[in-house]
Amino acid sequence: VADRSVEVVIVGAGAAGVACATELRSLGFGGSVLLAGREPDSPYDRPAASKGYLAGTLSRADVELEVPGDVELLTRASVMKADVEAREVKLASGELVAWTRGLVIATGANVRRLRVDGAQLEGIHYLRALGNADAIRADVAEAESVVLIGGSFIACEVAATLTALGKRCTLVMLEPAPMTDGFGPQVGAWVAVQLSARGVELICGDGLERFEGSDAERVAAVVTASGRRIPADAVVMGTGAIPDVMLARAAGLALGETGGVACSPALETSAPGVWAAGDVCEFGGRRIEHWEVAQAQGRHVARSLVSGQSAPFVEVPYFWTDLGDWATLEYVGSAAGGWDAEVVSGSLEEGAFSVRYSRGGELVAALACDRPDDLEAARRELASAAG
Ligand SMILES: Cc1cc2nc3c(=O)[nH]c(=O)nc-3n(C[C@H](O)[C@H](O)[C@H](O)COP(=O)(O)OP(=O)(O)OC[C@H]3O[C@@H](n4cnc5c(N)ncnc54)[C@H](O)[C@@H]3O)c2cc1C
Repeated sequence: VADRSVEVVIVGAGAAGVACATELRSLGFGGSVLLAGREPDSPYDRPAASKGYLAGTLSRADVELEVPGDVELLTRASVMKADVEAREVKLASGELVAWTRGLVIATGANVRRLRVDGAQLEGIHYLRALGNADAIRADVAEAESVVLIGGSFIACEVAATLTALGKRCTLVMLEPAPMTDGFGPQVGAWVAVQLSARGVELICGDGLERFEGSDAERVAAVVTASGRRIPADAVVMGTGAIPDVMLARAAGLALGETGGVACSPALETSAPGVWAAGDVCEFGGRRIEHWEVAQAQGRHVARSLVSGQSAPFVEVPYFWTDLGDWATLEYVGSAAGGWDAEVVSGSLEEGAFSVRYSRGGELVAALACDRPDDLEAARRELASAAG
């Protein structure tokens, strides 16, 4: 028998979970809502962890997210088990909480860890939470050379942030240029120029082989697949994220081909009355790891919980990435399935441009740097095509 009962349980107090709780209250839902998060911190703006918070220009208070006062927020509260038949969750404290209206799985993602020789050495960091950013800041205080592994957003953002703090940064990536996987060769070449111009060294088309340590068991160098040895006082890994499906899998929820929780177009999982939102949520064969999409999905689930109806989630994905305070790239749509044409407008040299990505003659995504009107036009086009 449960220790107590609430109307809605939300597991995970990140972007999706907080947006869901907030939207429930905005819609006038007066029932009890439990928002349980595993982290020690109150909910916060995660993207700041590689940007202003890491740079030290934003404080913890600056990045805190507001949670409605009448939502029961538990921090350091892991949900250990969900029984979707009995409609109960078990918290790490041992408390058994029943839900009557719905359960929302908003457990996000965890960093992808690489198991190479030397991976256990001190000074090798991953970045997902504010505490990781604190550790990186403290650790690089004395460092001269920092090596970033990966050519995607996190590694590039951290390289830009730490360069602005006066660190000598080297990026090691498999890609031919940074951000090419997401944005294509033209933008990749542009990002490479931006980073190089600020002193970031780029090692492209080369992978991480292993780390070498000092006598004090601290990282001293990165060795690449091609045999290059790069001295490193600290390392930050930007090697991707994997959806956190521990709870969902143990609860017997169906998982999808991307490894996320498989959801209907309305974001309902394989168990009726159990929903998913955010990085963990897979629907239509894809999973999107963007801040604003996680929030939009959280709000969507809230609407379904309140209305009792299951409208499909339709929203043009949007995200942004910052290279220090030099440039912000914004992106709408999704070219994850590939594209066969990219058309640039404006001027890459002047840092004011947009790119339209299309497949089979149809627009699938667009990127803009200092061209907000182009971005909005593409967003409208994508929205009307989606019906
Ligand atoms: C450093 C960094 C920078 C980023 N920058 C950008 C950016 O510029 N633009 C952008 O669009 N996106 C960015 N992202 C991605 C964005 O932050 C994510 O897409 C977003 O946070 C996903 O929200 P979420 O609520 O699904 O998951 P999360 O924010 O990961 O939150 C999930 C929460 O659930 C908790 N949890 C998991 N399991 C349990 C459990 N069993 N019990 C209790 N709690 C649990 C986790 O501890 C976590 O706190 C960035 C991500 C990182 C890490």
